[in-house]
Amino acid sequence: MIRATTFAGKSVALFGLGASGNATALALAAGGASVACWDDAPAARDDARSAGVAVVDLATADWSRFSSLVLAPGVPLTHPEPHWSVARAKASGVEIIGDIEIFARERAAHCPQSPFIGITGTNGKSTTTALIAHILREAGRDVQMGGNIGVPILSLEPPAPERFHVIEISSFQIDLTPTLRPTVGLLLNITPDHLDRHGTVERYAAIKTRLVAGSQVALIGVDDELCIEIGRRFAESEQPDTYPASARENLSWGYFADNNRVISRDCDQALAEAEVLGSIEGIGTLRGRHNLQNAVFACAAAWHCGLRPAKIAAALRTFSGLPHRMEEVGRVGTLLFINDSKATNADSTAKALATFERDIFWIAGGKAKEGGIASLAPHFPAIRKAYLIGAAADAFAATLDSRVATERCGTIDVALERATADAHAHTAAHPSAEPIVLLSPACASYDQFQSFEHRGNVFRDLVAKLPGIICTATQS
Ligand code: ADP
Repeated sequence: MIRATTFAGKSVALFGLGASGNATALALAAGGASVACWDDAPAARDDARSAGVAVVDLATADWSRFSSLVLAPGVPLTHPEPHWSVARAKASGVEIIGDIEIFARERAAHCPQSPFIGITGTNGKSTTTALIAHILREAGRDVQMGGNIGVPILSLEPPAPERFHVIEISSFQIDLTPTLRPTVGLLLNITPDHLDRHGTVERYAAIKTRLVAGSQVALIGVDDELCIEIGRRFAESEQPDTYPASARENLSWGYFADNNRVISRDCDQALAEAEVLGSIEGIGTLRGRHNLQNAVFACAAAWHCGLRPAKIAAALRTFSGLPHRMEEVGRVGTLLFINDSKATNADSTAKALATFERDIFWIAGGKAKEGGIASLAPHFPAIRKAYLIGAAADAFAATLDSRVATERCGTIDVALERATADAHAHTAAHPSAEPIVLLSPACASYDQFQSFEHRGNVFRDLVAKLPGIICTATQS
C-alpha cells in the first residue's frame, strides 16, 4: 500500500466506496489523514465499515473542515450534472481530486524521478498496459501495474528509484488528477465515447490530451482524426520529446508498424536503417490491426524505458494476452475457439471480424447497444453463420436478414453446440479450412450474465468440455 503522507494532519472527504475508494481511504488513514467516507449505496457503506473505513454522512457533515474531496472516478464530476458531493465541495471551496492525484503527490514528494508510465486512449488501454508491464517484467524490472486495470493505484507498492509504475488511466481519472506528470505518457487513440460524462467530444479530447501534455516523453497516436489534430498542435508548439505512433502508415519519423514489425525511426533516417523493436507476426495473443497499434505503443514505451530491442522482441512472444479480448480458448484440429466477450459494442466486434476475415461461425447477442450491428455490414461476407443469443436476437436477425445465415439459439450453450457442429461440417467439406467459432457479442451481457467476464468464463468453460478440445487459454 502507498501511505498518503502528503495528506498527514488533514481532514479529507471521500465519496464512492468501491475498490479504489476503500483503498484510498486506507492509504489516507495510514498516511495520517482523518478521512470521512460516504457512498449513496447502503451496501457499499456496510462493506467499507467492515473493511475498517470511517463512514460519515457527508450530506450533513461540516465541509469547512475538509481540505479535499476525493471522488471515485465513476461519480459524475461535470455531466450529466455534478454529483451532490461535488456541489458541496465547490460551495465550500474544497478541491476535488482522485486517487491518481494522491499517487502523483506522493511520487512528487518522495521519489519524483521514479519511472511512471501512464496509458490512456479510448480503446486498447488495458491491453497496452498489460503488455508494457509484461515486457518490463520479462526484462527483469521491478514493475507495479494498476490504476484503471486490476489493482487500485494506492494498493500498489510506493514509488522507488528503480520501480516502474505502469498505470492505466481513464478520462474520468485524468479529470481528477491536476498534477499528472508521467515519465512516459501514451495517448493511443480517441473516438467519441463517454460523452454523457464529458459533455462534448472536444472536452473529452481535451481531458485525454492532459495526460500527454504533462508527460516528459509523450507518445501520441496518429491513426484517428482527433489524435492527428492533437499531434499537430504539439508539433506546432514544439513541445519536446513528443513522438507520433501509427499502426496504419510508415511515418517519416517516430514509431510505426511496417507489416507486422514495430519500427523506431529517427528524423531523416532511411527505413532500412531504422531500428526494429519487435514483431507480432504469428503471436496469437496480439492478433489484428488494433493489437498492432497496442504493440507499437508498448514497444515504444519500453524503448523509452531503456530496454534493448532484443529484449522487447523476445517479451512480445511470451505475452499471454488478457482474458475476454480475442482470447484463444481452445482448438480442435484447425478449428479455433475465440472468446471476445469484452466486445460489448459493434465497434469492438468489427475489430474481431476484421482480424479473421473468413469462415467465422459467430456467436452474438445479449443486451443490444444503440445502433445495433448495422455498421458491421462490410464484415458480413466473413461470417459463415450467426448464432444469436439473448435479448438482441430478433433485432440482429432483422439486420442480418438475407445477407448472413442466422439461427436463434437463445442461450450461449446452444449457440456453441450449433456453431461447433457447423464448423466441423465445414472442415469435413473443406479440409484445408481454418474456421473460427467466435464469441464477440456486440452487446452488453446483463440480460443473461452478471458481466462480460462472467459471459466469457461461461463460454471458456463450455469450450473446455467439447470433445477433442485442446485448451489454449492461459488466464482466467
Ligand atoms: P480498454 O482498456 O481501453 O477498454 P482493452 O485493451 O480492454 O481496451 O480492449 C477492449 C476492446 O477494444 C478489445 O476487445 C478490442 O475490441 C478493442 N481494442 C483493443 N485495442 C484497440 C485499439 N488499439 N484500437 C481500437 N480498438 C481496440
